[in-house]
Amino acid sequence: MTALTNLLDLDPAQLVAYCGELGEKPFRAKQLQRWIHQFGASDFDAMTDLAKSLREKLKARATIAAPAVISDHISSDGTRKWLLDVGQGNAVETVFIPEENRGTLCVSTQAGCAVNCRFCSTGKQGFSRNLTVGEIIGQLWMAEFELRRSKGIEPGPKGERQITNVVMMGMGEPLLNFEPTVTALRLMLDDNAYGLSRRRVTVSTSGVVPMIDKLSQDCPVALAVSLHASNDPLRDGLVPLNKKYPLKDLMAACRRYLEFAPRDFITFEYCMLDGVNDTDTHARELVALVQNGAESVPCKFNLIPFNPFPESGLVRSNNVRIKAFAQVLIDAGIVTTIRKTRGDDIDAACGQLAGEVQDRTRVQERMQKMAEYQQKFGKNFGRIVEVPR
Ligand code: SAH
Ligand code: SF4
Repeated sequence: MTALTNLLDLDPAQLVAYCGELGEKPFRAKQLQRWIHQFGASDFDAMTDLAKSLREKLKARATIAAPAVISDHISSDGTRKWLLDVGQGNAVETVFIPEENRGTLCVSTQAGCAVNCRFCSTGKQGFSRNLTVGEIIGQLWMAEFELRRSKGIEPGPKGERQITNVVMMGMGEPLLNFEPTVTALRLMLDDNAYGLSRRRVTVSTSGVVPMIDKLSQDCPVALAVSLHASNDPLRDGLVPLNKKYPLKDLMAACRRYLEFAPRDFITFEYCMLDGVNDTDTHARELVALVQNGAESVPCKFNLIPFNPFPESGLVRSNNVRIKAFAQVLIDAGIVTTIRKTRGDDIDAACGQLAGEVQDRTRVQERMQKMAEYQQKFGKNFGRIVEVPR
């Protein structure tokens, strides 16, 4: 028997091609896409405006399946974190951060990460594998419809959208899993799927220069660059990728990106590490880096207080230091924010996403448990997405 096609893996053009293979007209793909991405449907029988014959064909050949949810935690500040099973003992996390006027979903693009930044617990885990399109977009699909379900909001375009912004700041380096990331981005932007504005979708990268250029051509969205250092020797030690793509090249790539970007600035993320990169001298060096005549980069800074994890050997800068550092940038006319840490009580903060995953024996145990439950209660146990009726 041939494997079922997971329709979450297909972008709009691929879905049209798939429908073509089934002998169906392109408008069927649009209908199907709306059922999947606007109504959160996973049951072909629920797609009542599709001909019964098409539904039967789909039931025989296709599926709509996001990664199964292993756990689901809600923090006292409303931040919600899901741990998702991506097979073979690998798990990734998705975090929803509600704010007054928006809801942001932080998605993962890889299980583990090969870049191995010194301050990042995902990097410490090593690289397991790239996520598929279905596993990336499946995070948005699962989260949007689960959030609606928990609030009693109807699916479909009429129901109030819960996720207004997406940031690719979960586990993994999105630009090292380029094609699946871009396909997932296209679905996020598509009007027959999530219809998010390019300005509200952000790719965060540690600085994969050629892929920054490729993103500017293939699917320009807002760009965040994880800078973390004001000079090459310091950045070489914190973000090993810097040895391959040093600051001068990275800054040039940022300038090129802005010619195509939906925003007129790059967001630089800067993790505040006590005694490592947080002095006023570092801040002044940063100003000189980004305000450098013809080589300047229009930018905003987002200072992230380091989230410690046991074996890092690093310490978070204190608040007074972070504020003083920010002031140097602000005095130079650079818009600078200090990231609030959210979801601390559920380990949902930046760079802590791997917390639970690292302990693979625990993940294995949980999966064992889930398999037992599934045997008892049916295969949909562990998937919090129900079949809409
Ligand atoms: N790989 C991409 C996106 C995922 S990391 C990147 O590096 O940009 C998302 C953000 O969290 C990055 O800015 C990263 O540098 C930051 N981060 C990682 N570990 C952290 C930690 N322990 N404390 C604070 N920020 C961290
Ligand atoms: Fe990978 Fe980003 Fe972590 Fe660096 S900070 S190891 S690029 S996930």
